[in-house]
Amino acid sequence: MSVIIKNATILTSNNEFVGDIKIEGQKIVGLGQFEAQPYDEIIDATGKYVFPGGVDQHTHFSALCNTGDEDTAGYETTDAVITGGTTTIIDYAPQDPGKGLLDSIDYRINTRAKGKTCVDYTLHAMITYVMESIFDEVEQLPQRGVSSIKCFMAYKDSPLHVDDGTMYKIMCKSKENGITVFVHAENGELVDRLQKDCLLAGHTEPRYHAVSRPPFVEGEGTNRAIYIANQVGVPLYVAHVTCEDAVKEIRAAKGRGQKVMGETCTHYLTVTKDALGSEDFCEASKYICSPALRAQEHLDALWDALNEGILNAIVSDHCGITLDMKKQGIDDFTKIPNGAPGAADRIHMIWSEGVAKGKISKQRFVQLIATNPAKINGIYPQKGDIIVGGDADIVIFDPDFRGTIKWEDNPNGIDYNVYEGREMIGRVDSVLLRGKKVVEQAKFIGDYGQGEFIPAKCYAAAYIGLEEM
Ligand SMILES: [Zn+2]
Repeated sequence: MSVIIKNATILTSNNEFVGDIKIEGQKIVGLGQFEAQPYDEIIDATGKYVFPGGVDQHTHFSALCNTGDEDTAGYETTDAVITGGTTTIIDYAPQDPGKGLLDSIDYRINTRAKGKTCVDYTLHAMITYVMESIFDEVEQLPQRGVSSIKCFMAYKDSPLHVDDGTMYKIMCKSKENGITVFVHAENGELVDRLQKDCLLAGHTEPRYHAVSRPPFVEGEGTNRAIYIANQVGVPLYVAHVTCEDAVKEIRAAKGRGQKVMGETCTHYLTVTKDALGSEDFCEASKYICSPALRAQEHLDALWDALNEGILNAIVSDHCGITLDMKKQGIDDFTKIPNGAPGAADRIHMIWSEGVAKGKISKQRFVQLIATNPAKINGIYPQKGDIIVGGDADIVIFDPDFRGTIKWEDNPNGIDYNVYEGREMIGRVDSVLLRGKKVVEQAKFIGDYGQGEFIPAKCYAAAYIGLEEM
């Protein structure tokens, strides 16, 4: 199958030019101007931007943590994700109840994702039960095509919580095996105390979620993770940075030459903590995620950090949690499941709020939503840019579209969209996954199960070009 995309305004991670993209089978084989010759398909992209399919390196499909199969929307709902322009996800693989890291990864690939996923994917190992066997399992992650592992510093007294000693040992094992350590950096002890104080004072409403997880709690966690990673000499990746306090710690570490990377999420850039203040429980509970939403000054600091290279990626932290599940915390904000869906809207929101409003350049956009996540996770240059030899994962984007985000236009498998009614400047019109058109006129036309597991390379190989991220 040969395809040519003609007259596109091509956006790569470091360039913008008008030209054609030649595709053979699943790969990009040429960029430039090509004569009309017989192709199986000719796509006219005059007046459209064409950029690489998004890579979202932080999602939670089919099981958020350790609660079994059905607690968050499954891989079949990634039809909405690819319709929104993201062609690859790096999904978290929490330990299933009583299981180790490797069994949980295998089960996810062979049972949860198989025959369902509409996007290509790779996985992060994720500790959700600390057991002695996980340390040895780290050695086998590279053979499984997994190059990263996540530790939760938050959630004291829950099986998710990784104490400092365990985190230290995971970092040591990861260093030996070329694994990057991802951290959820919040001080769990402080959160626990502040939550108790809120409840003792009778404060049970969703807005106390943010009160009990203030920025300094995240700043301290980030500082501690960076300090320990530095002793070990392992690269560190700080997940979902939300505030100036954490940015400051990453900036200082990078200044010292330490290999630290950070991401932020769409919602931390575009929604303030005011969203938690709604009198309507359901409305407020949609925005319960950890760390918490912040005040405007922190949103501004995050955009600056993205431009400065202190933060390297924008992700969704997608969790498909229904409103019914959120109601578990109607009398106690600490019981509201954490997380919000957003993988389908990441590209639209970041283009509309970032590129169209002049906060980031088009090249920085490509780097943040595709190239850097692919590099960090060892799947570049197969994924993450428009590059000869890379997979033909391509978004054709109509910059002239004007509208608003509506759940009904791209249902995400959950009963709400946290970006409902937000302005859309431009829209993903078509998407190719490995050379095959799977989205047309903003509608999914692909097959469930079309996505493949993409093995990740370990950081020694993946870190080429890290300095420029
Ligand atoms: Zn997450």
